[in-house]
Amino acid sequence: MNPQTKLRCQSSKHRWLIDASSTGSFLPSHHFFLATAILSPLLLSWGFAAHRKIVDVAIHHVPEPLHGFLKANREWLVEHALDADLRKHSVIGEAEKHYIDLDEFGEPDTDSIRLPPSHWKDAIAKYGEAKLRDRGIGPWNIRWQFENLIDAFEARDKNRILRSTADLAHYLSDLHVPLHTTKNYDGALTGQSGIHALWETQVPESHMDEFDLVNLPIIQHWNPQCTDSIWRVIQKSHECLALVFSAEEETLNELGEANAFAFCVRGRTRQKMHSAQFVDLYHSKLQGQVEQRMTRSIAACSIYWYSAWVMAGQPPLPVEQTETSRLRAMIEWIIK
Ligand SMILES: [Zn+2]
Repeated sequence: MNPQTKLRCQSSKHRWLIDASSTGSFLPSHHFFLATAILSPLLLSWGFAAHRKIVDVAIHHVPEPLHGFLKANREWLVEHALDADLRKHSVIGEAEKHYIDLDEFGEPDTDSIRLPPSHWKDAIAKYGEAKLRDRGIGPWNIRWQFENLIDAFEARDKNRILRSTADLAHYLSDLHVPLHTTKNYDGALTGQSGIHALWETQVPESHMDEFDLVNLPIIQHWNPQCTDSIWRVIQKSHECLALVFSAEEETLNELGEANAFAFCVRGRTRQKMHSAQFVDLYHSKLQGQVEQRMTRSIAACSIYWYSAWVMAGQPPLPVEQTETSRLRAMIEWIIK
């Protein structure tokens, strides 16, 4: 499938909205495209609030002197935590960087998965590039983004450092979301459509204030092999899927279809989503799973950022824009 057409939550949400409107219970048709266009970023990976929170808290955990530099640029980094998702709409090859369908690498008709080769060239030799891109290239992309950040530190280019820092955090966080590791990413294959936004947007938005994001499982920040760990991350994310789906099924059985959904006002739109009652019960059945994946995301961001800086030779951190970045900013301003 063309990666541009495989815009995960966006495409699944289109289906969901169409289904809902076909019952006569949803937005008037002339609002449909407008609502989708406005809301689709909310429905992509972690959601606005969680992505921003992950970056914000990860900065807090980074050791000095990188901490001081990131803290001084906190506002920009938090603001741009979702840029990678916004690019899915306009950049060919972007969409597949946010996920990997691990179950596509499993044995047919079994739950067992077999990780593809961790080196991109070996993976291409085994599966071919088109198949890999169709199944998602999340873990390989992490290494490329990590190398981008090292290059940016070496160049002491403030703009590049900030962009690479925000992007790396985004992709790392996405791969901590269980539903980013399966072809059943929005429950369409199991009759659980809408589960993507439920898990990664509605639960964090409703319960994030209760999460303990301070006590992180960081043993050491400097890890020269940190990019290897992404393969354990996606395995762990994939293992979480059984509970993601079973908890939704149990919640629906207990509350019944009539209590499962409600119309929610989000910004200037009205949207049919899981009800607050459903979100609360689902969250309790997940046994802290969303909080755990969020804290792991925060720890990973902190470790990867710091390790990239160390691997770049611990260069002084730019306070002012370099000549290169100043020139680039001027060119961008002119062609806008
Ligand atoms: Zn994403």
